[in-house]
Amino acid sequence: MRLFADHEQVLVCQDRQAGLRAIIAVHDTTLGPGLGGIRMWRYDSDDAALTDVLRLSRGMTYKNAAAGLDLGGGKTVVLGDPRTDKTPELFRALGRFVDSLGGRYLAAEDVGTSTADAELVALETDHITGLPIERGGSGDPSPMTAWGVFCGMRAALAEAGLGGGFDGVRVAVQGAGHVGAGLVHHPLDAGANVIVADIYPERVAPLVELGAATCPPTEVHAQECDVFAPCALGAVIRPDTVDALRCRVVAGAANNQLLDSSMGDALHARGIVYAPDFVINAGGVINIGEELGRPYDAERARTSVERIERTLAAVYERSHRDAVPPHVAADRLAEERIAAARASRPDAVAALYRPG
Ligand code: NAD
Repeated sequence: MRLFADHEQVLVCQDRQAGLRAIIAVHDTTLGPGLGGIRMWRYDSDDAALTDVLRLSRGMTYKNAAAGLDLGGGKTVVLGDPRTDKTPELFRALGRFVDSLGGRYLAAEDVGTSTADAELVALETDHITGLPIERGGSGDPSPMTAWGVFCGMRAALAEAGLGGGFDGVRVAVQGAGHVGAGLVHHPLDAGANVIVADIYPERVAPLVELGAATCPPTEVHAQECDVFAPCALGAVIRPDTVDALRCRVVAGAANNQLLDSSMGDALHARGIVYAPDFVINAGGVINIGEELGRPYDAERARTSVERIERTLAAVYERSHRDAVPPHVAADRLAEERIAAARASRPDAVAALYRPG
């Protein structure tokens, strides 16, 4: 498997007494320790869990590199049902495995895990991020992810020839969860018309009170609008949805929005400006970067997150220069940063492996 060959280290974590089965994957530490969340999920098979963790940790390498962070990529998957299988012992056992990596991997929360779980991991290791602010961490990353998406939208709108503010701009947000609900406020405050949909109407209701409109969740991607912002699931741009889009820009928080890279080509061919997901949704990891090595400061973090607008503008510049779609340009930017670091510090990766 190609994904496997790309990785620096993969650790299978088993603690029968604690009921823990997990895999930690460290993809690339050229730029720094591999940062990535702990996902807890009911996988259909061990193979499915392995494929997921390898894919996700590789994605974190690209996200952290493109965000300009001195962090590599890593990820953990815990095999189990987050609704029924969580115990303090399980997360403490995981914490000991994280600790055994000696800081090559920095954990965080992710789908299926919470700050409370992270606090259990923290009983066994210092290599956990995103703890509550009062405990010296950077807290819930979602508001910063939402802010970063909003800032990134400006660059994508400019690329689509719609620069010049949000007044009258139409934004359709798919998903009113942690990020989507937070995101809705920003374009609304800036004078945009926002439509938002979720499979849970109670999540949409407070946003409608704020002035957003709504539509059935099955139709949100097909709204006539300037920006379609996927903030729910992955693979939302796929053969059966891409032709239905009636937007100028796709810019949202969801991870892995493109079913595969041919969907990025399809958007480009249709003249729809795509904001590569791992660039525009990096606000959460940029926020975590702000707690490392110095006390966390929310205002400074917010300013750092705003650089997503410039990063995306650089992606579009690169896309024009190389005559490639933005999703390809974004990969190249991340790969070049890693290659440059490797060339300037050829012993950097080897040094991390040195025992003691
Ligand atoms: P969340 O689970 O809080 O919110 C997702 C929302 O989408 C839920 O309200 C859910 O009901 C809704 N939803 C699911 N299927 C839908 C559908 N078909 N149509 C409309 N709504 C639907 O998750 P989140 O933390 O808000 O993250 C949203 C996305 O952004 C995910 O893909 C996540 O991986 C990505 N992301 C999140 C962060 C972060 O800081 N939380 C950072 C980077 C990327």
